[in-house]
Amino acid sequence: AQDRVFNFAAGPATLPENVLLRAQSELYNWRGSGMSVMEMSHRGKEFLSIIQKAESDLRTLLDIPSEYSVLFLQGGATTQFAAIPLNLCTAEDTVDYVVTGSWGDKAFKEAQKFCKPKMIWSGKSEKYTKIPSFHELEQNPDAKFLHICANETIHGVEFKDYPTPKNRSGILVADMSSNFCSKPVDVSRFGIIYAGAQKNVGPSGVTIVIIRKDLIGNAQGMTPVMLDYKIHDENNSLYNTPPCYGIYTCGLVFEDLLEQGGLKEVEKKNKKKGEILYNAIDESNGFYKCPVEKSVRSLMNVPFTLKKSELEAEFIKEAAKEKMVQLKGHRSVGGMRASIYNAMPLAGVENLVAFMKKFQARHA
Ligand code: PMP
Repeated sequence: AQDRVFNFAAGPATLPENVLLRAQSELYNWRGSGMSVMEMSHRGKEFLSIIQKAESDLRTLLDIPSEYSVLFLQGGATTQFAAIPLNLCTAEDTVDYVVTGSWGDKAFKEAQKFCKPKMIWSGKSEKYTKIPSFHELEQNPDAKFLHICANETIHGVEFKDYPTPKNRSGILVADMSSNFCSKPVDVSRFGIIYAGAQKNVGPSGVTIVIIRKDLIGNAQGMTPVMLDYKIHDENNSLYNTPPCYGIYTCGLVFEDLLEQGGLKEVEKKNKKKGEILYNAIDESNGFYKCPVEKSVRSLMNVPFTLKKSELEAEFIKEAAKEKMVQLKGHRSVGGMRASIYNAMPLAGVENLVAFMKKFQARHA
């Protein structure tokens, strides 16, 4: 629509236009119920149908095996940094963290309060531009789980495959906040997948946890009830008042992704968008530069710098004039970052690339 911008924000991020329009049309009176989803009891039949549909559509999308629970929680992925060690470990247990960016580092630091995590690999000295080769990981056989951040939102580094956990429990845990539902994933390789919704699948306020059922029920005694997976699992995510409207919106996004043909089709579109943007960067004769190693570049978050860094402010300002916003890189790394999640249309990336070429021609 004319009055909307191309929003390259890292999250909260752009949502599919048809989802917004559908939410708008259902806002005032949801399907003849005489009320908005915001006003419904979370225990009424209307909302139960909404959360059940959202779960079942997500199960279809990711082909989630029946021995996994799907939880709709609150507190963001940040709360899961604590909840995971609290639920899976004793205070004396050791766990392995592979740190490929700032989010993995935050997860590692939070875990230090609840167990004995070990950072078995860090990309920090290379400014988080790499993923380690899996055979060089020195995994601890006694680790309770191996933790990765599947896509580092700030640094734009993405796992294209996943390491096999060598710990005795065989558990791999992944923060998929910023590439959740952007491509098919073999859920059976993971003990836990978790993600904040606000990048690919909905508004902030909803956190999705997909957990193998046998990992539920061993929380440390001090675990707050709100962080105990068993409580949420037994109550189908309705132990307390859930973020109802957010869950409803996620449900609309899941329906949209299914209508697009599922995650294989979605991945094709994301690959196309990423290819166009990375090619524009790589073919700019060094005017633009992406520091991330080619084989692990994120299809969701594309960081890049300008050789003439003094032009960055102008780049951002000029882009905004052409209705492309939120291109400033994270304060910790500078430069630009274009987040091109599922809901960023191809036209948005094409516009950006055309703008980048014009901007370069003007300043070469
Ligand atoms: N992990 C990743 C990969 C993220 O991108 C973010 C948010 N940008 C977080 C964790 C933290 O999520 P939240 O703000 O939902 O707690």
